[in-house]
Formats: sequence, structure tokens, C-alpha cells
Amino acid sequence: MKTWALFLVSFAVPSSLFAQDVQVRVYSAHPPTSLTVEAIEGHLHWKSCPTCQEQTGESLSVESAKANPAGTPKAEQQEFLISGTYRLRPENGPSFSSPYPLRIQSPPGGLIVVITVPLEQYVQHVMMAESGNFQNPEALKAMAVAARSYANKFTGQHAKEGFDFCDTTHCQVFYWRNVTPGVRAAAEATRGESLSYQGKPAAAFYNQNCGGTTAAASETWAEISEPYLSIHQDPFCVTIGGGLKWETALTHVQINKALRTAGMQPPEDWQSLDIASRNSSGRVRALKLSGGKPPTFSLTGSSFRFAVNRVFGWNHVRSDLYDLRNAGGKVLFSGRGAGHGVGLCQAGAEEMARQGKIYKEILSFYYPGTQVTSSEKETWQKRSDERFDLISTNPDGDSGIFPVAERLLREAEDNVGWRVPFRIRLQVFSTLDNYRNTTGQPGWVAASTRGQTIRLQPLADLRSRSILDSTLRHELYHLLVETRGTRNSPLWFREGLTLFLSSSGVVDAAPASMTVDQVEQILKHGDTRENMQKAYASAQRIVAGLLQQHGKQEVLAWLSGGLPADVLRSLGVIPATAPHRGANEQPREKPE
Ligand SMILES: [Zn+2]
Ligand SMILES: [Zn+2]
Repeated sequence: MKTWALFLVSFAVPSSLFAQDVQVRVYSAHPPTSLTVEAIEGHLHWKSCPTCQEQTGESLSVESAKANPAGTPKAEQQEFLISGTYRLRPENGPSFSSPYPLRIQSPPGGLIVVITVPLEQYVQHVMMAESGNFQNPEALKAMAVAARSYANKFTGQHAKEGFDFCDTTHCQVFYWRNVTPGVRAAAEATRGESLSYQGKPAAAFYNQNCGGTTAAASETWAEISEPYLSIHQDPFCVTIGGGLKWETALTHVQINKALRTAGMQPPEDWQSLDIASRNSSGRVRALKLSGGKPPTFSLTGSSFRFAVNRVFGWNHVRSDLYDLRNAGGKVLFSGRGAGHGVGLCQAGAEEMARQGKIYKEILSFYYPGTQVTSSEKETWQKRSDERFDLISTNPDGDSGIFPVAERLLREAEDNVGWRVPFRIRLQVFSTLDNYRNTTGQPGWVAASTRGQTIRLQPLADLRSRSILDSTLRHELYHLLVETRGTRNSPLWFREGLTLFLSSSGVVDAAPASMTVDQVEQILKHGDTRENMQKAYASAQRIVAGLLQQHGKQEVLAWLSGGLPADVLRSLGVIPATAPHRGANEQPREKPE
């Protein structure tokens, strides 16, 4: 089941068709100097520029350009635009897999690795990094809206460097961990929802624990003075552990080391560290060192916190909300909270949810005056029948599809001789725009199947074009073919078989206008409408020929058993002179 859960049955969608993509630089904190990209399904395709010749292969290795000693010519920088489903293996740092377009540049000192992901995927992977302490679905939903709002507000934050977001706390931390069911459910339940203030996207900052008092944004970022990012008491995070109380002791030697590492020059033999001023929320604004040479030295609370934590770890001075005491060569800190304290307090949000508050109440508590607005105004509802679930914004109007779907499914199952082993979801869109925006499919693709869900254009449109039955029949055959097909059975075969079976076997006699390889490439990567249609027609004709020659039972058995070598040879997929391969072995690529 897992092998095709992510597979777009109709054809892979070029990323530019998604309405909202974001470009994320990964490995920003520790850019690797070398990296290998390996294909994990099919091939990799790459170019050195948008208009350059495309190359194909199983893997690609990229290294940072060597730094050039003075007087030598400038090191050559490379760029690769890569597509395919791949695994990234940096020489150090985590490896991960992704089906999303990748761009790698190789300046000296470390690679710039940028992935273009759909906004909703971005939100889920940010939540994987930023929502570790959440247990409660409503808190997770609040977090999903906050992460999405942040993305909407700050898209292009790194535009000068050629991407939208880095993957560190500077923007939002982004983990390529597998998304947990809870995170996915929260993101899907709030899909398209984000916060706005007076009709404009809101800056939805969030923090780990505000310690009982939120901070104004201007305490951390002088240029941001949003009224909804204001100081208020937080009774929720303090009910658990008093708003995260912490204590830290630092010796003068440690403090000197931290400040020097951060490029500051603390006075020699200073005697005490004192709080010089506090912000309105009570957080330390400025500190001073006194009693040394020179006699006083000032620094801001945040530069002190960052300096200490960079050297000794982020659990030392966890926030700027603290008191301190000098005690013979040491400074003792006792504080509350973690992080900057601006916006949503994650500990408080979790507690609000535990007390039964829903995510919109959590959001309006932490971002007072904002509204949750949705880019998808309608709500989806579910109706169920014997073998189908209908997902629709107008279930009364759309449930007429049940008897049609039940009949077509029975016919198709009888024809192939096996059954779809799960409940099928039929998702019916209310407008062509919603269908296009959500599925990423162009308007001329009447339906597409992803996992167990068949996604359909508005039924009234399909009926008025008299293509409802044929469209649904096609997608049901797709599910049947995918149920049996192994991940290695080629796309042209699966698509051609589906087309043949769903077209009641009527195929015109003209020979296929494309080779198997050409069809495969187009189905995999998408193309113009005209070429897609040629590729579909060719796939259908090629499979029709095979059915005529070998019979239905044998050809259907190839779905799970693989195409025999002599068939592949006769199609030119492997040349007649190629060394013999086992019948079940799928050649991965046409040998050179
Ligand atoms: Zn950033
Ligand atoms: Zn709080």
C-alpha cells in the first residue's frame, strides 16, 4: 500500500502548477561541502540552468567550489536544478528523501541546498520541528495556523539570497522527519487557514513558554509593533510548573568566554553583573558589568543570552525574564519561561487545549484582534455508502454519484478478476478553480487519483460534457491496476492498461506515435496538453497490441510479475543484443 500512497496516478505534476510553493534552504546552519543525490524511484533529471540540456542518471554528486587563493582565477561555481524522487546524503548532517524540486549551488565554503515544497507540506514539516511538546489536537491546530500564517506573512524573507526561508530559528525550524499522524491531521483540519489583522496577514510569532507574561514584539524586533503582539498575563502556562522555572549559575570565567566568543571585550576583573533596565513585560533589556577596568560596560539582555547559549547550550539562559544575584566569582540566575515570549505561548496553548478550549479560542487569546481566514471558504463533509466515502462541500447534491460508482466498480472488478481492498474516497470539488488549486492538476484533467482518493471536477460539469461515467470508470480501473502493480511496473504500462480497460477495448488501428521511452518520460514529468494526450494514446495502443498478442490474463499477470524480457525487447526498451535478463527483472533505464 505504502509504495503508491504518494504516487500521482494520472501523472506527476510539475511543481509550478501548485498555487503556493515555498523555497526552503535546508542545512542552513551547517551547509555541507559535499552531497550526493540518489534516485530512489525512477531517475534523477537535472540541468545546469533553466534552458540548459537536461541530463538523466541514478545519482549526482556535488561539491563546494574550492576557495581560491589570492591571485588565482575565481573558483567555478556550479548550479543544478534537479527533479525526481531522491534521497539527499550530505557528507555530514541528516539524510532525507523528497519528491520535490531541488536546487543546489556550490559556492566555496558550503552548498546552498534549496527545496521547493507546497505550502501545506512546509507547514507540516515546521510543525514536526516546533510542536514536540504538544499532546492535544486543538493545540496542534493552533500551531498549524500560526506556522502557516508566519509563512504567508514572511514569504521571501531571504529573497535576496534566492529562497524564501532558511530552516533555523531565524525563520521557522524545518525538519524532514516523517510527519506524524497527529501533525498531519492538524494541518489538514486547518488547511488554508491563516491569521489576519484588519485584512492583512498577521505576523504569528510563537514561543516555547512565556513564563506567565507575553512580550511585546517591539521588545525583540524594534521594527515590529503589531497591536496583537502585546504584553498580557498568561494564566495557562503558569498552571503547569509555574511557567517553566529555571536556574543557572555562571562563573565570571564562563561569562568572559561567552562574551569574547561573541566578539565583545568585557572589562578586566569586573566584580558584578547587574540588570540596568527592563522592558515593559519585565524582561531584561540591558545589563552592566561593573568594578573592573574600564569601570562599566553595558550590553543588551538578548546579546548576553545569545552569547552564553551559543557557547554553553540553549538550556542555560532560557529567556530574558529573570533575576540575578552575584555570589563570589559567580552569578546566579533564576528565571521563568523559554524563548522570546512574543505571540503564542506553546506551553499555554497546550494547557488551554487540555482545559477544553478550541484552536480558534487559543489563537484569539494569544493574537487578540486577529481573525482566522480561510483560502478555502467551503467546508468538506463526508457521506458513506457500501464501498465509497464521498467528500464534498455539497453532499446532498453530489451523493447521486453513489449508485453510479457502485455499478462501475462492480463491472471493473468483474472484468479484471480482483477487488479494490479498501474503501474508496470520492472527493468532489465545487468549482474548477478549487479543483485546480488543490490537486495541482490542469483543468483538462477531469479527475486524478492519489492514494485511495479519486478527486473529481464538479459533477455537473462532467455530466454536461457526458464524461462522468467514463472519467469515473477510468479512475476505478486505475485503482485496480495500482492495487496489483508493483512499484517497478512502468507508468506507460499501467496507464495504457487502465486506458484500454476503461475504454471498453475500442482502439483505432493507427500505430503508436511515440516510443515506450518517450511515453514514460512524458507521463513521469508532465508536458503540454497535446503531448500528454499523444502519450496517453500511444500507451493505450502499445498495451492494446500486447493484449491482442498475449491475451488478457497473461498481460494482467505482468502487473505483479513484471514484463517479460522478450516483450521489452520487442518494444525496444532493451535492445535485442542486450545480455539476457531474468523475466521478472525490470530494466531501470535504456542502456546506452
Ligand atoms: Zn531565515
Ligand atoms: Zn505562557
